Amino acid sequence: MEFEKLTGHDLERINRNLAVIPVGSLERHGDHLPLGTDTFIPQFISEKVSEVLDCLILPPVWYGSCKAMRNFLGTFDIQEEILYKYLKCIMVEANRNGIKLLVVVNGHGGNSVPIAMAAREVARETDLSVLVVDWWKDLGLEALSRFTSKGHAGEDETSAMLAVNADLVKMDLAKSYEVKYPSFKIYSKKLDDSLYKIALTGDATRADKEKGEELLKAVVADLIKIIEEAKRLIID
Ligand SMILES: [Zn+2]
Repeated sequence: MEFEKLTGHDLERINRNLAVIPVGSLERHGDHLPLGTDTFIPQFISEKVSEVLDCLILPPVWYGSCKAMRNFLGTFDIQEEILYKYLKCIMVEANRNGIKLLVVVNGHGGNSVPIAMAAREVARETDLSVLVVDWWKDLGLEALSRFTSKGHAGEDETSAMLAVNADLVKMDLAKSYEVKYPSFKIYSKKLDDSLYKIALTGDATRADKEKGEELLKAVVADLIKIIEEAKRLIID
């Protein structure tokens, strides 16, 4: 049930306890993936989940916080503080509309901290519970382990995007490039600006639609299990 397509009359008459919301970004993903990749994938996962659990799906948040890809054309970088406040507003409003458990399906690493900050505060101030997943690292781990390389616009993400909508992927432009991350946590503009040479890490040329379908199937199955467990704790 897509929230934006319902009438108020419909909304008054349906079970609003549970809702899913995809949160993504507009970001350069090599030369071969669409700029909305980080939203298309969680949107696809959220649609599957809402079909199976017969629950609400809220419109996605398209704009995310994208520091590392900021210098590449195609990236919109929203400040973390603004994103956290915006997400918090959405969560508060979800709660005011009767939602008790909100599942945030995140598609982009730079959003994780703003989402966690918003969720923690809203859970303290209202009776909304917020379940948060980073789809590419919290779910479908066994299926994920079959990929030889992982990373931004790499083999795993490209395979997933092929499974979501192959028409938007230009495999003839897929490349392979390994970013060497430092082994420690460091915040540095110099590194942000120099780490990524081609807005990609991993081997996108090895991407495969079938592997992507398997991965997303496992991700959706895991997420449904987690939501059912959370529902038992929160709603039932
Ligand atoms: Zn991505």
